[in-house]
Parts: sequence; C-alpha cells; structure tokens
Amino acid sequence: MKQTALKFLVCPTCKDELDLHARVQHGAEIVEGSLSCRECGARYPVLRGIPRFVGRDAYASSFGRQWNWFRTVQLDSFNGTHESEQTLEATTGWQDDDYSGRFVLDAGVGAGRFAAIVAKKGGEVIGIDLTTAVDAAYLNIGRQENVHLVQADIFAMPFRGGAFDLAYSIGVLHHTPDPRGAFGHVAAAVKQGGGFAVYLYAAYGPSHSCSDLIRKITTRLPLRMMLAIAAISIPLYSLYRVPGIGKVLQLLCPISLHPNWRWRWLDTFDWYTPRYQWKFRYPEVFRWFRANGFTDIEVFDDPIRMRGVRTGERA
Ligand SMILES: [Zn+2]
Repeated sequence: MKQTALKFLVCPTCKDELDLHARVQHGAEIVEGSLSCRECGARYPVLRGIPRFVGRDAYASSFGRQWNWFRTVQLDSFNGTHESEQTLEATTGWQDDDYSGRFVLDAGVGAGRFAAIVAKKGGEVIGIDLTTAVDAAYLNIGRQENVHLVQADIFAMPFRGGAFDLAYSIGVLHHTPDPRGAFGHVAAAVKQGGGFAVYLYAAYGPSHSCSDLIRKITTRLPLRMMLAIAAISIPLYSLYRVPGIGKVLQLLCPISLHPNWRWRWLDTFDWYTPRYQWKFRYPEVFRWFRANGFTDIEVFDDPIRMRGVRTGERA
C-alpha cells in the first residue's frame, strides 16, 4: 500500500482516521505493517503490500483460489486483446475522459482486470475484494502509482460515504449473500453527481435451470477437484460447437464457450463453484438505483448491465 491511501482509508467500524505503522517498505510501497484506528484503537494488518480489514474470505473463498490460479488470463496486457476494456465500457458506458483524474472504486476487484484499464486511462482506482484475490491483483497491478488494493468486505468498507467519483461492480454482487444490501453499500460510497455501474447475472430464459441443479453438487466439492472437472470444458468446446447438439448440451450442462481455452476453463470453474449465484431482472435492479438516490439510469445490452448518477440520498 502507499502512504497516499491514508487520504481515503478509514476504520470500517467507526469511520475515523487511521495511523500507519510501516515495518517493511520498498520504495513507495509499505509491504508490512499495520493501521490503527484513532477512535476505537482497532488494528488492521498490512500484509504483502495490502491492508487487510477482514480475517477470512468466508463465503467467497472460491474466488481467492480462482484468481490466484488464473491470475493473468483475463488481463488485456497479458492476453493481447481488448476484451476487459470492452466489457468495462459495455457495463459503464464511461469513456476515457470520464476516468482521467477521477477517484474510482472497483467493488470486487478479483485479479484486477478492470482496475488495470481504469489505471491505464488515468483514474486513481481503489480495488477491494473480500478474498485473497487481492494478492493476485497486487502481483498484476498493485505497484502502479494510481492503484490501491484493499482486502475488505463490501458490507463494511473502510471508506467514508460519498468518497468516490465513480464506482463499478462487475460480476460480483450476485455472489454475495445479500446483493441488494451490497448494492446499497457500494452506492453509498459514490459522491453526489458521481456514477455507479453494475453487471449482474440475468434471470431471463431457461439457460440456468439445469446448471442451478448441477451447482447444488459442484458448490460442495473440493475446489481442487472442481478445477480438474472444469478443465473438461477445454476439449468439450469442439463438441459444444456442433450445430444442434451443442445447443442441447449447453442447456443441459452449460460451459463457457470462450475461444481462449484458459479463459474457458476459468469461466466454467467460476460458474460452478461460488456459494451464491443470484440472478436478476432489469426492473428489480432499476428499483435499487432509484431507492439509493440515483437518476439518469441507463440500461445496456447483455443483461444485466446498468448505470446511474447519484443525485439524491437513499430513500
Ligand atoms: Zn475504529
């Protein structure tokens, strides 16, 4: 972490300021040390360059393993594509100018695929994650001057309300025990006039019915076993591409059909392992935006992708 993170980090419990006690420092990076709250005295460790406000990753442990196993797969800078950049734009509608000099929250940063884009476009990005995925993100982008990574819970973030110009959460809130509540916490971190964009799984169509049943088993299996099982999607790709048969198989047992085999393996693992996987419809998410004081709500393709501008308070 950088000293500059103290301008936005506060105690998640009492929202008071934190004092930094650096033990090991490499250049601008405080690698080991702790943060202590001036008000309540709580101490939070800084380990491997990251301030840690949670001791365990609880319901989301699959993501900690996932992003350390598949650390670089979705990074545009590693795979030579613009896929993460395009996904970010498809979800937020924000253009390059929107990021420059802005303070941006990535709620559920994973291995940092979107935070990397925001940083490249000149935003100062704060990526939080409940899990050890932050360690993967740190290896990928953590030492960049305009990137901050924090291990924290969306439901108890170490920031003041209204601290961010922009916030986004792409493919994350549906993996929490209470997506609507999680949405409210991220929304509250956005300042008046600031933007918030989300991507959530959609409840439309029959495509998830079978996988919902399969997930009743796969979410209980050991993650290493699931890593091996998900690898079957690598060769199955050719069979799933056969017209007719492929469509039926995809309904019965959906796998990722991403042309990059590593990405396919990752996405299939990502579908079948998380404990929570909620799905939504546009009207419901629209109401969340409204209830949290957002207007100018826009709906994008490939549900559910929406954004809004905060112009009021939570109802
Ligand atoms: Zn405190």
